[in-house]
Amino acid sequence: MDKDWAEMNKEMQVLLSKEATFTEGMEKLLALRESLFGQITQIVDTFPEEAFYQMPFAGADGYHSKTLAYSIWHIFRIEDIVAHEMIAQERQVLFDGGFSETVHSPIITTGNELSGDELAEFSKRLDIKQLYRYAREVMQSTDRLLTRLQYSDLKRRFGDEMIEKLRRTGCVSEDEKASWLIGYWCGKDVLGLIRMPFSRHWIMHIEAMRRIKNKLCKLARKGVDPVAYCGFSCNHCFLSAWCGSCRTAYNVCSFATASPDGKCPNAVCCREKGIDGCYACDSLEACEKGFYTPSNDGANAAKAQALYIRKHGKKEFLKAHDRLHEKYDFAKTQEILGQDYCEGLKILEDI
Ligand code: SF4
Ligand code: SF4
Repeated sequence: MDKDWAEMNKEMQVLLSKEATFTEGMEKLLALRESLFGQITQIVDTFPEEAFYQMPFAGADGYHSKTLAYSIWHIFRIEDIVAHEMIAQERQVLFDGGFSETVHSPIITTGNELSGDELAEFSKRLDIKQLYRYAREVMQSTDRLLTRLQYSDLKRRFGDEMIEKLRRTGCVSEDEKASWLIGYWCGKDVLGLIRMPFSRHWIMHIEAMRRIKNKLCKLARKGVDPVAYCGFSCNHCFLSAWCGSCRTAYNVCSFATASPDGKCPNAVCCREKGIDGCYACDSLEACEKGFYTPSNDGANAAKAQALYIRKHGKKEFLKAHDRLHEKYDFAKTQEILGQDYCEGLKILEDI
């Protein structure tokens, strides 16, 4: 489990277990949920549509065997049912917000019953932007519910009536892969439901989503030119575990994720100019776009690398990078190439 999330989850549980620290525990829970939801936002904002129905770990044992779309649907369907039908006893966001139509889901269940091709087909049908809107509304509604809870509410339990009510909603499939859920939820008190599904369930599925997206990026980079438009080497980049290269639809570099359209400005500019990379551009030295934004502390290191490519070619550049990594231990190239592109170029040429 991610170290920071595991730590927050543990602290939250300890704090919630005592009345004196209950409010602090709730704040920790909300902060954990916000951090986890940030991962979903980043994936939805930057990954191409096709990424949401791929199953790069199909057949594996674990949550990573599912799709990104399924993971989002499943996390928030479960939360919607538990938070609204069970704890708040009000209408689910899926129905109240009309999301069962806009998301284009063929099911209203949690999806536990789906597997293999069924799961991929289901994922393909979902409108991802609407699914994201649904997820966000469920999260916000649950957060409001959590802030209204008192310490004394944590011990509240659910009886046979709730089991019957949940069965009648048809939101949990009768398939044996899903039907156990109702008994599982109804066997817990409110505190137990906060642990699962409002926190730990998120962590498990979002970690699986990370594995899926990283694998998709790795597959996308296969056979693709490893020299980025800005002059970096994807082969040597510290972000390469979770970025699929600016030459593919899986570009998750820092400037792509920060751009409203999810595209790196240097990549967009090169494509518009019809050139192979910024190293082929006459405006390189004076350029202040994307990675070359003066406030970016890696701007001059990126330029130094692009200038090296212009002078010596990509093949020599990749070899120079190998030598740089053999000699120094570093993550970001500016740690070695510094803040002056002429000096950075000289370092690369002398290595
Ligand atoms: S951040 Fe840039 S250099 Fe790094 S892998 Fe992504 S596209 Fe390549
Ligand atoms: S103007 Fe800047 S971003 Fe565009 S191709 Fe030239 S160097 Fe790259």
